[in-house]
Amino acid sequence: MRTFKWKQTVSVLLSTALAVAVVGTSAREVTAASTEQELRDQIAQYQQQLDDINNQISDAQDDKADAESTKKLLEQQAQTIQSQISLLSTQIDNTQNLISSKQQEIDQKQADIDAKQADIDARWEDFKLRMKAMQQLNDGGSIALLSAATNLYELLSFQQTLEDIYTKDEEVLAEMNAEYEDLNNQKQELETAKSELETQMTALADQSSQLESKQDELVASAQKQNEAISAAEALENSLTEDQKELQKKYNQAMQQLDSLLAQTVNNAGTPPIVCSLNFSCPLASYKYLTTLFGQDGHTGTDFAAPGGTPIHPIAEGVVIAATWHDSYGNYVMVNHGADENGNTYVSLYAHMQSPASVSVGQTVSKSDVLGYVGNTGYSFGNHLHLELRVNNARTNPLNYVPH
Ligand SMILES: [Zn+2]
Repeated sequence: MRTFKWKQTVSVLLSTALAVAVVGTSAREVTAASTEQELRDQIAQYQQQLDDINNQISDAQDDKADAESTKKLLEQQAQTIQSQISLLSTQIDNTQNLISSKQQEIDQKQADIDAKQADIDARWEDFKLRMKAMQQLNDGGSIALLSAATNLYELLSFQQTLEDIYTKDEEVLAEMNAEYEDLNNQKQELETAKSELETQMTALADQSSQLESKQDELVASAQKQNEAISAAEALENSLTEDQKELQKKYNQAMQQLDSLLAQTVNNAGTPPIVCSLNFSCPLASYKYLTTLFGQDGHTGTDFAAPGGTPIHPIAEGVVIAATWHDSYGNYVMVNHGADENGNTYVSLYAHMQSPASVSVGQTVSKSDVLGYVGNTGYSFGNHLHLELRVNNARTNPLNYVPH
């Protein structure tokens, strides 16, 4: 019987309660944002600033990542050049060794030439002596020889011997000179080969020095990337500090709004509504439960369901909120009154597709539609976020609602 009377009483009490809540809050709160609308405006503003700052942080992180990948690329190039320089260095060393061994061959050849020259000189001295002797023999020495010789044959044979020696000397000297020429030619070839190696080495050294300056450039460029990375990091850090401050303000404002809304509920929860405790599932059907109450601090139970699924109140009651919240999106709160023991029950339905189909002060029954499942506010996918407040404390809805 009383259940029919409260309908009129509630709307009167509710408007009084709301007025009291607003006046009461503005008297207590020191901040300018004392009314619900002002709080919502400020929260929206903080949200906007947070979005901006998050974008800036993301930009700074992108800049940092770009600089890091550029730096990595430059270092890889420097590394490649370093291995080319190492390779060249080995080639230069090898060439230097070849030049040294060529020089040793040249030195050896020069020693051979010097020895050959000494042989020629010595042979030439002998030859000159023999020439002199033959000259003396021809210039009348033959007389002396004649007297010394015991017979003509001996004399002729002596002369023949001298002539033979002379011819031999000539042959030997010619041969030696030819050998000397050969040695000089060989030495010349060695010198040419050495000079070719030296040209090669100069080219290698040039190449190496070009690579070294290229490597220096790359290292300097990589160093510059460090500056860019540091700058991006510094910016990111300072932005993160700002973000923390802003997040704190945002959370405070949200808390203020929550307590303001709780105050409203508190004051609205006093009408003599008798709660039957005969609760029903708010959705005729749903896919599955996603996040449960208390899971990671979750304040309600999430029912995944297709967008547009009608949402019904879990029990009859009076609508005490039908509005927008940054986290809840479009949401409705229904006061179900108190049970026989004086425990109060208030339910909340969040993330509705569009603004509520009901308005504040309206009496609703289980067959009424509050709104439709959606994805508004802080939500990632169509679902109904259901909260139940028993004596103003958030409680696991599944303890009361069949599912
Ligand atoms: Zn939820």
